[in-house]
Amino acid sequence: VLVALEGIDGSGKTTLARALAEHLIARGKDVVLTQEPTTGIYGQKLRQLLGEGRASAEELLFLFLKDRQEHVKETILPALWAGKIVITDRYYFSTLAYQGAQGFSLEDLTLINQAIAPCPDLVFVLHLPLEKVPLRIRHRQRLESFEKDQGFLHQVERIFSRIKGDYIVHLAASQSPDELLARVLAELKAGGIL
Ligand code: C5P
Ligand code: MG
Repeated sequence: VLVALEGIDGSGKTTLARALAEHLIARGKDVVLTQEPTTGIYGQKLRQLLGEGRASAEELLFLFLKDRQEHVKETILPALWAGKIVITDRYYFSTLAYQGAQGFSLEDLTLINQAIAPCPDLVFVLHLPLEKVPLRIRHRQRLESFEKDQGFLHQVERIFSRIKGDYIVHLAASQSPDELLARVLAELKAGGIL
C-alpha cells in the first residue's frame, strides 16, 4: 500500500507522516517511512541547489524526476512487493504543484510522472493558509521558498487545491496533530487499507 502526504512547506507533512508511521508500527504493521527529495545522490543535490536558490527550473525538474525514478526503483517498489505500507513525505503531486508553478505544463508533468512512478492508493493533501506559513517554518534555517516569493507559494497551493481523484483527500492543516491522525486513520479504514 502506498500513501503519500502532500502540501506546501510548513503544512505538517513530516509530523503527520511520523505520527502515522509510529501508530501503524505500534499496531504491528510493516511500515516504510520515506521522503522526497530522498537522501540519494539526486536528492542531496536537490537540497543543496534549493538551499542556494540558484538552479534553473529545468535543472530542478530534471533532478526531481531522476530522484523519483531512483526512489521508486530502490525503495518504493521493493517495499510494495514485500507487502509493506509505504508512507512517503512528498511524491509526484509536489512536482505538479512546484514545477507546475514554475511554468511546466500540468498535463506533461502528469504524463511523465505516471510513466515513472506508481499511482498511490491514497494521497493526503494538507492545506495551510499562506499567512500561517512563516510561523510554522520560522525555526527552519531554510526560509527560502517563503521569503523568496509569496506569489510562487500561492500558485503552488492553488495547484495542490485543484488536484482531484477518488484517492485524493484534502485536509485542513490547522487541525491538531491528533485530529489529523484520526482523520487519516479513518480514511485508511474506509479505503479498506487497514
Ligand atoms: O521540507 P521538505 O523536506 O519537504 O523540503 C523540500 C523542499 O523542496 C522545499 O523547500 C520545497 O519548497 C522544495 N520543493 C520543490 N519542488 C518540489 C518539491 C519540493 O521546489 N517538487
Ligand atoms: Mg517536512
